[in-house]
Amino acid sequence: AKNQGGHKGYQFYGSYMTDKAVETLDLENDLHNAIQQQQFSLFYQPILDLKTELVQGAEALLRWIHPTKGIIGPDKFIPLAEETGLIVPIGAWVLNEVGRQLKEWEALELPRFFVSFNVSVQQFKDRNFLGEMEKMISSNKINPKSLEVEITETGLMSNATLFLNSLKWLESKGIALVVDDFGTGYSNLNYLNILPINKLKIDKSFIQDDSGKGHNIALSILALAKKLKLKVVAEGVETKEQLDFLKKNQCDEVQGYYFSKPIESEHFIVFVKENRILNEKHSNNNQVIA
Ligand code: C2E
Ligand code: MG
Ligand code: MG
Ligand code: MG
Repeated sequence: AKNQGGHKGYQFYGSYMTDKAVETLDLENDLHNAIQQQQFSLFYQPILDLKTELVQGAEALLRWIHPTKGIIGPDKFIPLAEETGLIVPIGAWVLNEVGRQLKEWEALELPRFFVSFNVSVQQFKDRNFLGEMEKMISSNKINPKSLEVEITETGLMSNATLFLNSLKWLESKGIALVVDDFGTGYSNLNYLNILPINKLKIDKSFIQDDSGKGHNIALSILALAKKLKLKVVAEGVETKEQLDFLKKNQCDEVQGYYFSKPIESEHFIVFVKENRILNEKHSNNNQVIA
């Protein structure tokens, strides 16, 4: 019923509409306002080097601070944003916010870390996307090597050839490309040889399935990545056992509740500083022993 009549009005709230549909319509109206009223916020989840457990970067994850409903996670509104095209302005906001935040962080003179952010297929298809990336980099004087772009395997596969030029542009800038939710895309793996990909992110379903079956897939992904000289990051690491499994099998980076949930930017910086101090203590102790 969404597009009936061409404009949104109360006439659609007929009794034939399910609660679910009304809720979606409400959410869509709210989402329009959210963009205008800047109700979005980026949370950051640390990504650590598996060997040293030093923070290497953060994934920026979108949150909607709704005036009455509280914090809404992206799974609740990104699909709707993609359906309605609102993902393009929302994605542009994310891009600018990442730029602003990185500039602020670079002034702190901490060791360099990267920020990865998620990009939807529609954004890649949008003709302004690369221009906005360029502007974000130049106006904030960001080192493009501090940026990583995550696109889901399914998204990438949906139109790999259309994206090729954009992906090559990212590569030419030194921006890393990460295939998100890797292993869930039922894909012809040949794209790994064709597209300029830097990193695979193993989907959390394979990390968290402790039956052993998920871990078998994770092992295959690690072996494949090694052959293709791609880095691997595992998402959704929650337990010591999962961490040990990845360590034993030489995964490069980890991300998950075991270390931290996605947190506000101020908290992320505290995490980075504490992570450094903890690490220095460790290496000092090791020196004493050796
Ligand atoms: P994703 O990119 O695969 O992000 C990882 C998701 O796993 C995040 O959920 C994160 O909070 C969650 N996660 C991380 N570690 C753990 C863990 O140890 N255990 C569990 N159970 N979950 C963990 P989140 O923040 O709800 O984001 C969901 C999805 O929404 C993201 O999946 C991404 O596809 C999308 N998304 C988030 N931000 C953006 C954005 O700015 N733009 C676009 N287009 N999509 C976004
Ligand atoms: Mg992601
Ligand atoms: Mg993922
Ligand atoms: Mg995911």
